[in-house]
Amino acid sequence: SLTIGIVGLPNVGKSTLFNALTKNEVLAANYPFATIEPNVGVVGVPDPRLDKLAELFESQRVLPATVDFVDIAGIVRGASEGEGLGNKFLANIRESDAICQVIRAFKDDNVVHVDGKISPKDDIETINTELILADLQTIEKVLPRLEKEARVKKDKQPQVKAVQEAKEILEEGRTLFSAGIAQGTERHEPLHELHLLTTKPFLYVFNVDEDELTDESFKEEQRALVAPAEAVFLNAKLEADLAELDEEEALELLQTVGQEEPGLATLAHVGFTTLGLQTYLTAGPKEARAWTIKKGATAPEAAGVIHTDFQKGFIKAEVISYDDLIEAGSVTEVRSRGKARMEGKEYVMQDGDVVEFRFNV
Ligand code: GDP
Repeated sequence: SLTIGIVGLPNVGKSTLFNALTKNEVLAANYPFATIEPNVGVVGVPDPRLDKLAELFESQRVLPATVDFVDIAGIVRGASEGEGLGNKFLANIRESDAICQVIRAFKDDNVVHVDGKISPKDDIETINTELILADLQTIEKVLPRLEKEARVKKDKQPQVKAVQEAKEILEEGRTLFSAGIAQGTERHEPLHELHLLTTKPFLYVFNVDEDELTDESFKEEQRALVAPAEAVFLNAKLEADLAELDEEEALELLQTVGQEEPGLATLAHVGFTTLGLQTYLTAGPKEARAWTIKKGATAPEAAGVIHTDFQKGFIKAEVISYDDLIEAGSVTEVRSRGKARMEGKEYVMQDGDVVEFRFNV
């Protein structure tokens, strides 16, 4: 499955956040046969629709979609210079499908900042500079060979042009993601084989003081720093406390700081969409469940997530929109209202689709 690597300067609250994430793990309870790795936190993506479906179908359990967060330990500054830890750090980032930067905004004289001052802008620059330098090194290694090849093979020229353009962007100190050359886009295609770091989708977690959680102008400022990447604001210590509480107590504590849901829930949602994922839903007496698919997945591809045989033998899918189902109150009623649709192989799955697949075995 796809993973999000958590990176950041020392002492910004990464471990605190990661510990809170692992306390929230849905893995142990719901997926007993999965292996649990120490540096991976498998976090449920909260979806109230599943609870509603479970009520309607009297399902025995609810299985939300999950996001995998990987704690990428290691130094940041100087990483691109290569040696030991730096290499391992970059290799771990290369294996991640998205990069989540934890940025310190909280003030606490007892917690030393490596650069002696609290400055989200500078910290973001420090981290991005390392990633940008690493990408520049990659490019400088391959570009001369590519240019040489392109002199003979004209069809290589568009690739050379794309690499040169990427180099210019990086030299300006910008990430390729922020310049619109993100993985999965057409502009990224010619760069694919270079496995560049800054083409991965980025997201930012600002570890803020509790009073900043509701400070809209402060948050607007930080959002502007990281756009088009998403920003999540949370207090890592508070999240660690919340992870110890039952739901009711947690809600009470959240209210005292003006929040409706834990920051981890927001992070799970934002992480999920940053990875380019969406869900569809199934429900029955056994379970109400969200299944993870890529945005734009077709019905047979969605069926394949449940079982490869479902994809191979796909005939059609009965699709009901969640809202129609809740309004009608039962599948039978939705059908009699003519709102259950039979969809074929070309159908592109939509968020909130409640599905039953028909297939040959
Ligand atoms: P890491 O080096 O990035 O993994 O940072 P840690 O999670 O180890 O946190 C470093 C120190 O900052 C620890 O003493 C934490 O208790 C403290 N800390 C983490 N998050 C917060 C926060 O939101 N507010 C305050 N005041 N301290 C925090």
